[in-house]
This record gives sequence, C-alpha cells and structure tokens, in this order.
Amino acid sequence: MGDKILVIDEGTTSARAMLFAADGECLGSHSAELTQHYPAPGLVEHDAAEIWRRSLECAQAMVAQAGGPDRIAAIGITNQRETIVFWDKTTGEPLAPAIVWQDRRSAPLCRSLREAGEEPGVQARTGLLLDPYFSGTKIAWAMEYWPQLKEAGERLAIGTVESWLVWKLTGGLHITDATNASRTLLMGLGSGAWSDGLLDMFHAPREALPEIVDCAGQFGTTKLFGGEIPICGLAGDQQSATIGQACLARGQTKATYGTGAFVLTNAGATPPNSKNRLLSTVLWQLNGRRTYALEGSVFVAGSLIQWLRDSIRLIETAQETEALARSVADNGGVYMVPALSGLGAPWWEPDARAAMSGLSFSATRAHIVRAALEAMAHQSHDLKTAFAADGADWASLRIDGGMVTNDWIAQDLADMLALPVDRPDFAETTALGAAMLAGVGCGMFSGLEEAAAMRGAGRTFEPQLGEDARLARLQGWKQAVEGVLR
Ligand code: ADP
Repeated sequence: MGDKILVIDEGTTSARAMLFAADGECLGSHSAELTQHYPAPGLVEHDAAEIWRRSLECAQAMVAQAGGPDRIAAIGITNQRETIVFWDKTTGEPLAPAIVWQDRRSAPLCRSLREAGEEPGVQARTGLLLDPYFSGTKIAWAMEYWPQLKEAGERLAIGTVESWLVWKLTGGLHITDATNASRTLLMGLGSGAWSDGLLDMFHAPREALPEIVDCAGQFGTTKLFGGEIPICGLAGDQQSATIGQACLARGQTKATYGTGAFVLTNAGATPPNSKNRLLSTVLWQLNGRRTYALEGSVFVAGSLIQWLRDSIRLIETAQETEALARSVADNGGVYMVPALSGLGAPWWEPDARAAMSGLSFSATRAHIVRAALEAMAHQSHDLKTAFAADGADWASLRIDGGMVTNDWIAQDLADMLALPVDRPDFAETTALGAAMLAGVGCGMFSGLEEAAAMRGAGRTFEPQLGEDARLARLQGWKQAVEGVLR
C-alpha cells in the first residue's frame, strides 16, 4: 500500500487535486477552472460532466506526480456543498445542469413554504432554514420543471457533488456522506437518515437518492488510474476545513474568509437547536456516530474586495488593501455594510442592500478600504454574539481562507472579537481535512486526534485594541447595520 493521500477538492470556481504525505506535507497541487453558467439573473449552473472531467484531470496529474497509483493509500473528496447533480444510472451521464448552491430559483417555493408555516418544523428536523441555498428546494424545482427527470423514472440518480464524483470514480456506487446529506433539507439531523416527510415536501424520489454513509471508511475503489485506489474520506468543504483546523473538541471554532465567510463551532454529540437563526449541521460521522456543528455564513467577504477592485476600481489588487488600511489611524467614522447580495446569518435578509455611511470631506480612499476590511471583523462579531446567545460562545478562533493572508485583517479580528486568533501556516485546511478523513478511513491513523498532527504550526494574533475603542467601533457598526435593515 502507498503512503500518500490524494485529495480531490471540487470547489465552486475550480476543481483541484492535492497530494499529501502522512505528516501533512503538501507534495503537489493541480487545479482547473470551472465554467460558471448564468442562464438568467439569480440562476447559477455548472455542467456536471465538466466537474467530472476537470476533477479527473487534476487527480490524474497528482497520481502521475506520486509515481503511480501504488504510491497512494487513499483518496479523500471534499466539495462545494448543496450543489445538486442529476444523472442517468444506466449511462452515468448528466440529465440536466447541476444547480449551484448560489442559485436562487427556488426562492418562490421557499416563500410559499414559509408562509404555510413550514419553517419551524423543517428547522427542527434538519437544522436548516427554508432558503434556496439548500439542495432540497432545488430538487423540488427541477422535478417540476425538467420533464426528463420524471421521464427517467428508475434510471434517475440525484446526488451532491461528492456523490457524483464517487459514482464516476467507482463506476456506479451511489453514496453520500452525512455532512453533505445534512445540507439537503432531506435528512433528519438526529437520525442521519432520509426523512419520508421531507422527501414528500421536496418531491425527491427515495430510489433516486444515495445511501448515507460515514465520512471515513472504505467506500469502494477506483480503477481509473491504472491500479486500484480506495476512496476513504468524504466531507463537504466547510466541514472538511473545520476538521483540517483540528476543531475536534466541543466549542472549538473555525472561520474561513474566502469569497464568503463560514464559521463552524464544534457542538458535540447532540444536534444544537439555534434560537438565533444559525444552522445546525453534521460536522462528521464516524462509525455511525455523528458530531454536530453550529454554523453561520456571511455571504460577502472577499467578494467585497473583488468588487472594490473590479467594479468600483478603487484598488488594483486585493493585496494593496493591507498597506492602505495601515496608512490611516482609524476608519475616520466610515462604515461599510457589505450587503451586496443581502445579509446572511444572523440576519437572513435577502433584500437588504449594501451601504457606506459616515463620509465627510476628510474621508479618503484609505478610509473606505479600511472600512471594507473592518466589515469582516464586524460581521464576525455579529456571528459571535449569535453563537453566544445559542450557548456556543467562542474561546478562540482558528482562521483560514484567501483573505487572512492579510495580517491586518487577522489582527483586526483578534482586536474586535477580543480573542486570540490562530492562523495555520498551511492555509489549505479544506483539502487537509479530507486528507485527515481519508487517512483515518484507510487505517493510516487511529482516529482524527492522531490525524490532527497533519495541521502543523501556525501564528497567533493576540487582541491589542483598548476596550473603549473596540466598543466605539461596534456601536458605529450597529448603527450602520440598522440603517440597511430599516
Ligand atoms: P474561495 O475559496 O472562496 O474562492 P479564497 O479563499 O481563495 O476564496 O480567497 C479569495 C478571496 O480573498 C478573494 O475574494 C480576494 O478578494 C480575497 N483576498 C485575497 N487576498 C487578499 C488580501 N491580501 N486582502 C484582502 N482580501 C484578499
């Protein structure tokens, strides 16, 4: 058996494969962009065949780099969550476009179910809210509007992206892991099984759905790389990053600041019950036992910086924001509420729109950029407040994602949250989590605790800001948010 782990990290904008040694060293990486299809405003689709082709091509590059399939002990897969794929069980080909997590086409259905009073029951059973984000409402839409799905009858297969990739890799194994299943609105959070009532509500045919399995184990083998390689780890991207950050004990929390920001707190063995519009989700399932997480998502994080660069042209690169923020003593009274696509947790206000406030003649480009960066810590503070109100306050925060290569943002998070903030030197925590799971699944590690050594060293940012200054900023932010919620 080989001693390396191959990870397929199938994201929203690109597919990637990475090769890891057992000590966590990253030995190689290959990525390929994915075409985004926007057939109409609010609609986002992927071509599932392209997802497969790109993932395969990246994996092939890493198998070659490893020196052949015999060098690889196991494959781990992590994926963009909630995106849903429809395919034909006999041909193994897609029957329709994949509906991507950002797609809003099922908003009217969500609204009518909410108006019918269904949300509290759905939240109690699934830990989720009635939002187009989750796969169930996308399935309901597709079953109604894409006749080829009904016509396919028993040939229809439905699955999230890891399910689709496992099917293609193994030539017909139809499984999904419990973390991905927990994002569909179809799985009972406590039972870990598809729920008949929810399948009815979202018109999801049970025969078309995969079997729900653990996140680590022996999930079939692939022969596509010249020899046999077992698939041993599966998890949705945010869960995988939480594992990659070694948040293995109850209360440990990670935040990923990429295009959006996603915070997950390990909630232990009992499904949390949020009173503050946070999500409850499966963090991992091992040996049939589930560990849960409380989750808060912020829709706009790094995309705010992209918008300042590409649409407003206030900056030329994301990297220059750090020097600009440092060039002024404070925000000069300027606040930015980046509700460019509504506000996510804990507000869930899809119709809120962004605002900039507190401008005067003394405001400069640097103040505006600083206000944009400060919005990350402000939004994180709102989440921390919601987590605390749900009994899951944070004692420290482990951060990752493209934005936190910016030291100023990392320090500002520590200052505004009044918490130590840890940033690992190896930032690819999503892929690392899948590698850890695959290592457990193939027996390389006895459990996640042993696998956690793969995470390696990091840097801690300690809070330095005085309490008065911190409270003054939070007060300014509160007023700015009230302005957009009005
Ligand atoms: P994703 O995985 O969602 O594609 P990444 O984790 O790669 O995102 O992070 C990329 C995002 O981080 C981009 O939106 C970019 O604007 C932002 N970003 C990258 N570097 C910096 C920086 N130095 N300062 C602020 N934002 C940054």
